[in-house]
Formats: sequence, C-alpha cells, structure tokens
Amino acid sequence: MTLTDPRLAVSPATPRPADDLSDDEIAELNVEFERLPASKIIQWAVDNFAPHLALTASMTDAVVIDLAHRVYPEIEVVFIDTGYHFPETLETVERVRRHYGLNLKMMTVQHHDEALWEVDPENCCSAVKVGQLDRALLGKAAWMSGLRRTEADTRAAAPIVTRDLRGLIKVNPIATWTDDDVAGYIDDRDIIVNPLIEQGYLSIGCMPCTSLPSDPDDPRSGRWAGRGKTECGLHLD
Ligand code: SF4
Repeated sequence: MTLTDPRLAVSPATPRPADDLSDDEIAELNVEFERLPASKIIQWAVDNFAPHLALTASMTDAVVIDLAHRVYPEIEVVFIDTGYHFPETLETVERVRRHYGLNLKMMTVQHHDEALWEVDPENCCSAVKVGQLDRALLGKAAWMSGLRRTEADTRAAAPIVTRDLRGLIKVNPIATWTDDDVAGYIDDRDIIVNPLIEQGYLSIGCMPCTSLPSDPDDPRSGRWAGRGKTECGLHLD
C-alpha cells in the first residue's frame, strides 16, 4: 500500500472513520512513513480525516503547529489549560494563536481547591488532562501530536501512526525528529518557543510537576521528579 493507493486517497469532504483502517494497513503505513517528511504524513492525515482531525499542543514550541498549519491552516489545535500552567506557557499559547490566526480549542479545567497533583498525581493527570482530551476528541476520527522518540526512553519505540485506547487514529508526524532537527526547524523558520526553554526547561508541563531537568541527557527528568511518574497518560496507545 502506498500514499497513492486509492484506499488512502480520500477527499477531505468524505473523511474516513477511524475503524476504516485495519491493523495491517496501519503497520504498512508505519513502514512507509519512516522515510517520509513530516509534511507528507500530515498531508495524509488531512486527506483522510479532516475535518474530523485535531492536533494537540503542549506549547513548548510551535514546530508541529507550524508544520500542520502550512498543510491545513484550518487545523483544530487543542490546548488543555489544566489551571496549573506556567504564565510563560499561557503567554506562548496567546502568541501562537495570534501569529497563526489559530483555530484553537482551549479546554479549560474547573479549578480544584485541593492540590490533587500533590496527593495523587496519577489521578490528577487522569481527571484533568486525559479527561479533557477525551472531551476535545469527541466526534473526531484522528488526532496528531508532537511526540518524539528522543524525548524519553518510554517514547523510544513510538509509532508514527497507531490506534489509541479510544479507537481513534493517532499520528505523530515528527516522531523520528531529533533535538537537532527541532532546533534547526526553529532557527530556519523563526518558530515561536516557550521562553522557559531559555531558562533551561527541556520539557514543559504543569508548574507543580515541572522542574529543571536533573539530567541534561534526559529532557523529561524534570517532569514529576522524585514521584516515580513519567507520563501523564495522554499518549498511551
Ligand atoms: S501534570 Fe501535575 S498538575 Fe498537571 S494534570 Fe498532571 S498531576 Fe495534575
């Protein structure tokens, strides 16, 4: 199966349902996508699933937003405002929104009186982040993220296209990108980045659960440091 296979060349006017792709087709696509640029992978996702397609953003930088926006300016970008973000991250959201005229879907979480992240971070992520993503993806057939294999050992084998626990198609167009690839794209295209990056943060999540990385070779070593937790659950497939 190739990108020109008629089974894959579906007009955006007739988006595919997520269960239209078999596991074998997903496996074939992964082989093919390993050698394709991110823009082609995004184009495939748009051709097959738009407008029932969203892109989630952490707002560490706008690399994947820029890539997707160039292919499909109407792409719906989901940002989950947990209520615990750094002010710099919220400023970045606004800068990116204005710069691209973004079709932004801001998922805002009701304020919790208790510090759930302190007593039960697993439950906090599940209720706050995953619950909001579930809501944001209602009615969608597929979604994309900026997840990369080099971000963490837990992500080293991340596929480019997969089926998530909801049964939706999940696409990681820059899964194969290295840190240098990202830095080069940011330089080349003058991409907006979260100012916390300049302060040494390599992976940015909620403020109570993000610190400067203890290991410069492990970008996510500052996430939930000392709490035995490495993922928030958004990217479980
Ligand atoms: S990262 Fe921390 S504050 Fe944010 S949702 Fe997860 S546990 Fe809660």
